Amino acid sequence: MKKLIVANWKLNPLRETDAIRLARVSDRDHTVICPPFVFLESVGKTLRRAKLGAQDAFWKESGPYTGEASPVQLKRLGVSYALIGHSSRRTELRETDAMINKKIRAALRAGLKVILCVGEPWNVRRKGLPAAKSFVRTQLQKDLAGIRTAKPTARNLIVAYEPIWAIGTGRADAPHDTIEISKFIKNLLAARYSLRAAKVLYGGSMTSRNAKSFVQYKEIDGALVGGASLKAEEIRTIISIATQQNGNR
Ligand code: PEP
Repeated sequence: MKKLIVANWKLNPLRETDAIRLARVSDRDHTVICPPFVFLESVGKTLRRAKLGAQDAFWKESGPYTGEASPVQLKRLGVSYALIGHSSRRTELRETDAMINKKIRAALRAGLKVILCVGEPWNVRRKGLPAAKSFVRTQLQKDLAGIRTAKPTARNLIVAYEPIWAIGTGRADAPHDTIEISKFIKNLLAARYSLRAAKVLYGGSMTSRNAKSFVQYKEIDGALVGGASLKAEEIRTIISIATQQNGNR
């Protein structure tokens, strides 16, 4: 399976010119760029090889919902992927699994590919991997509840495993633990949702220094990269490390 690198710029950069410059250096095959909403259009016009991603998508197509972005509007703007359930939205904006479930359905209905973010906080992980698996299983069950009607497939549903304690902390997960959780997620998706060969990405303090230690394994299908995706040299190197793995298969 080809490795996928997803760049999550979060609320950066401040200027459009910087966004376009960063888009140019990240514009490679098997890469998704998720700029802030305000730069989607200009970044979309810049990209030739990478796909455009949104950092979120609302659950309604249109209507009286101040400040939201409709999945249908996003699709028409040229967006191919939507991050749903990122931990910063779950924690800082109190986004619930029920809200995430509605967003996934609407995004799939609109023809977007969903990158569903899951992952446990440190107070769970410190109890060990079984506790982390149980936490992630509950998230997946709630987030994907009843979703068969919206037709998730291994092509339009990707899971990003992002342990919350690893995001933006400089403290990445141990690759062998990520492999174990990734296998667990893949088995769960296959058994409960008949989703065979769905991609599972790793996210959390990935840099050019640790990228290979994750993406070299067949169980880890790529990465969701935050902070390092804002540094031209870092993201270029991470993409090229992932691309080398594609060449090796
Ligand atoms: C993220 O925000 O999804 C993320 C993985 O961030 P970072 O790479 O900075 O830990």
